[in-house]
Amino acid sequence: MYFTLLGLPAAGKGTQAKKISQVYDLTHISTGDIFRRLIEEETAFGIKAKKYIDQGKLVPDQDTIQILKENLQQVNLERGCVLDGFPRTLKQAESLTVILAEMGLKLDMVFYLQVDKEVLVHRLSGRRVCPNCGATYHLEYNPPQVKGSCDRCEHHLIQRADDKPDTLQRRLQASSDEMDKLVDYYQKQGILVAIPSEKIEMVFTRIKQAIEVRM
Ligand code: AMP
Repeated sequence: MYFTLLGLPAAGKGTQAKKISQVYDLTHISTGDIFRRLIEEETAFGIKAKKYIDQGKLVPDQDTIQILKENLQQVNLERGCVLDGFPRTLKQAESLTVILAEMGLKLDMVFYLQVDKEVLVHRLSGRRVCPNCGATYHLEYNPPQVKGSCDRCEHHLIQRADDKPDTLQRRLQASSDEMDKLVDYYQKQGILVAIPSEKIEMVFTRIKQAIEVRM
């Protein structure tokens, strides 16, 4: 089974992708996570990508598509995979169709997590992350036990540069500009499943129902 998740930043793509990959034993591929790893490793690409990410911009299509393609070729796709954060542009979606077709594969379903922009701004501006172990918190919904400190490893929590107010607005704008095109692209292929992004467990139940109907 091959899935991807569409949605504006903080619509819950990462959370749902992790749950899908665990329950259905699929490989989880997140372009955001790949970029953060390359930035951490200070590779030439990581240094380049960081400039875009810190400004709230999308990493250019050509680079992103190349990184995704290399990743798809390296990981175990025997049982399938769930993509998270890719595609974000129509060009990426069209390239993904070609890359998968070259591997004899195709997407089975695209989950579109719909959520209001105001809700997203609230979710993103309160998000805090641990740069050491990757744990995510929210100042209001999921605060750490000790203010500013990670529950798991006690490392100092930070706000992602791309979650800061100015960058955040630019990021949301850049993403929503392309979202309509992506929705249209997958709707025409008959594989789009739109799900209002509410409580995590409710969203996941809807995803499971959709998967089980098609399996
Ligand atoms: P995420 O963790 O998915 O929110 O991604 C963090 C940042 O990485 C985004 O705000 C983008 O700058 C960049 N990024 C992730 N995936 C893509 C993509 N498919 N295309 C372009 N940029 C991306």
